[in-house]
Amino acid sequence: MSEPIFPTGTILGYPRIGPRRELKRAVEAFWSGGIDAVELEARAAELRRATRERLAGLGLQRGGSAIPESFSYYDQVLDAALAVGAVPERFQRLVGGDGVDLAGYFTIARGEAADAPLEMTKWFDSNYHYLVPEIGPHTVFSAQPGALLGQFREALADGYLTRPVLVGPVTLLALAKPTEDAPAEFQPLDRLADLVPVYAELLAALAEAGAEWVQLDEPALVSETLDAPRDRVLEAIGVAYDALGAASSRPAIFVAAPYGGLDDALPALAATPVEAIGFDLVRGDAPDRLDPATEESLAAKTLVAGVVDGHNIWRGDLEAAFARAEALRAWSGSVAVSSSTSLFHVPHDVADETKLDPRLVSWLAFADQKVEQVATLARGLADGPEAIAAELTVAREALQDRAEAPGVRVPAVRARLGALADSDFSRAGYADRVEAQSALELPELPTTTIGSFPQTTEIRRARARLTKGELDEAAYRAEMRAEIERVIRLQEELGLDVLVHGEPERNDMVQYFAELLDGFAVTEHGWVQSYGSRCTRPSILWGDVARAEPMTVAWSTYAQSLTAKPVKGMLTGPVTILAWSFVRDDQPLADTARQVALALRDEIADLEAAGIRIIQVDEPALRELLPLKRADQPAYLDWSVGAFRLATGGAAAPTQVHTHLCYSEFGVVIDAIRNLDADVTSIEAARSRMEVVDDLAASGFDHGIGPGVYDIHSPRVPSTDEVRSMLERAVGAIPASRLWVNPDCGLKTRGYDETIASLEHIIAATKAVRAGIAVPG
Ligand code: GLN
Ligand code: ZN
Repeated sequence: MSEPIFPTGTILGYPRIGPRRELKRAVEAFWSGGIDAVELEARAAELRRATRERLAGLGLQRGGSAIPESFSYYDQVLDAALAVGAVPERFQRLVGGDGVDLAGYFTIARGEAADAPLEMTKWFDSNYHYLVPEIGPHTVFSAQPGALLGQFREALADGYLTRPVLVGPVTLLALAKPTEDAPAEFQPLDRLADLVPVYAELLAALAEAGAEWVQLDEPALVSETLDAPRDRVLEAIGVAYDALGAASSRPAIFVAAPYGGLDDALPALAATPVEAIGFDLVRGDAPDRLDPATEESLAAKTLVAGVVDGHNIWRGDLEAAFARAEALRAWSGSVAVSSSTSLFHVPHDVADETKLDPRLVSWLAFADQKVEQVATLARGLADGPEAIAAELTVAREALQDRAEAPGVRVPAVRARLGALADSDFSRAGYADRVEAQSALELPELPTTTIGSFPQTTEIRRARARLTKGELDEAAYRAEMRAEIERVIRLQEELGLDVLVHGEPERNDMVQYFAELLDGFAVTEHGWVQSYGSRCTRPSILWGDVARAEPMTVAWSTYAQSLTAKPVKGMLTGPVTILAWSFVRDDQPLADTARQVALALRDEIADLEAAGIRIIQVDEPALRELLPLKRADQPAYLDWSVGAFRLATGGAAAPTQVHTHLCYSEFGVVIDAIRNLDADVTSIEAARSRMEVVDDLAASGFDHGIGPGVYDIHSPRVPSTDEVRSMLERAVGAIPASRLWVNPDCGLKTRGYDETIASLEHIIAATKAVRAGIAVPG
């Protein structure tokens, strides 16, 4: 095979939702029956066309495989699973001659009636959620190249030679979970030898269609936090890529390893015949020493320097990025430049942000600006740094301007941080708190929700009208209060024990606070995909953070005034505020987290003073920021737990502090969760059918815990029996005195019908289980 040349500048992937969330709209219209599959496919094709054209316009070559084919209707891991035919048993009925059609694809993603969807979990240390493939000893793999070929050919017909992108075999298996019928010792990686020939078939089909390069994403290679043991992953690299490399008909293979350094995976990968290796040089470092064998193999490959941060929105230091790319020339004569990760973690285009301060805008780079940066750096690589001197100067000046701008460093904020003492980080002992909190007079197995109730069209419309100036503050507040009253009445009717105000006033649990805190800016169109059609609009944390005035007290006290039952105050924790924002990169995250924590601490003091007796501080993102490398984890856990404790450390013993986390695999974070020292922790558990309670019991976790009994990521309503059996499993593992009953997460994405039905079932199941506990033997 004569080897094609790798493009000098490329990106690992591009946002797929569209600049105005066109894909979200189309997919949701398809789900609700508004458009059919043909129309959905047409709109998706339109979007892909626009993307290719845009990327070419921004400086990526039309030919030469520079433009990645990184579209997905829902999730790239699901796409890969379906490309190899890995459809779980319960969805086999959806498989036809050409694999699964679009309707079937979404059914696997979202579930249907009694068939639960694939589990969903966080994608490496990002805020994106992927669907977890299920692979067992009997999974039958078969190549289904239809989607890959369709998109590649569609591009070709328009005059583009693009680069198909697919999650690689090692990552696909390392992220998979074993099917229910698998024996205890089974690991999905056991199936590698069966899977690789199917990947080889996919590659052969792409080669035949004319693809010159294929990109296989292997982020599993950089992570030390997978379930799959590291030595199995390292071994799998050689097995997979020796075999794929030896295939007789295939495109050249580019293995991308985003989200961290390759470290000990590099020798293994270098030893295989793949033609190009992608390094994340934002999170990881270029190798500074190599064993002779690795050095020799790398010299024959293209090294792709991921130096433009795909994970954040700052322009960054372009000169430093260029130097990092150049450093790879020590190892190979063939060096290219790319984004460090796919750009789907950042919004489309900063030029759309007409309402942001232009000074802030000049410091920012969204996806389109990052593509331009890549194109600039590629020009520098090809023609020498003189060729890009002007661009480097602009970048340097923007950095300088940012360092000196007002609000970036506020002396009062810094003085308060400097004066903190150890005692600011802890509350009274847990036993004393339990005693003091008995005044809340809660029943056994108290029922509650995680905070938000469905965000109805009326609520959204009211907010849109407020933004447009069609509704004044007072009228908006009146509408929100009416909604809070409805939600309180509903919860009383349902018979919940600890009520919430429902969060109608929050567009988003982070953005709400970002809009009220100094140091943040909010975008208009800065949407990024969270999962499926769900998008979030992260705020930009650019300066020192401080609270100008109380943020939630009026809503919480209004809700509490309507009921004798306790209403939970509802705050978002410091780590989550950071994780779901685009955070300044000019100081350690730990320092920024403490600034946010102090603002929340003041809010908690005000809530307490206003008579709120239970306060929940959500930290759903605690685990997603966990560094992928073990060596970095202790420091992270230390500052993240510290920030939570600083936020809550001022709460008096009778105040019950809750926290909420959006996942159930605790692993290395279990000690950290214990160290948060919250009185009650609610977690996700329904999708994995309460698997987590045994781990929890084994870990010695001894504070209140609410494992979720209702999977809110799916429109499915769990039956009373189903909830009851989950609760029984929980009661079997954890003393009833510490157990709470709640959904997996907030209800804001659900509709009212399904919410009410589900909560009714939860309450009925709780009553049944309580009765069971009360009757001795
Ligand atoms: N209180 C939030 C809600 O209910 C928590 C959401 C979350 O953890 N993602 O919406
Ligand atoms: Zn949650």
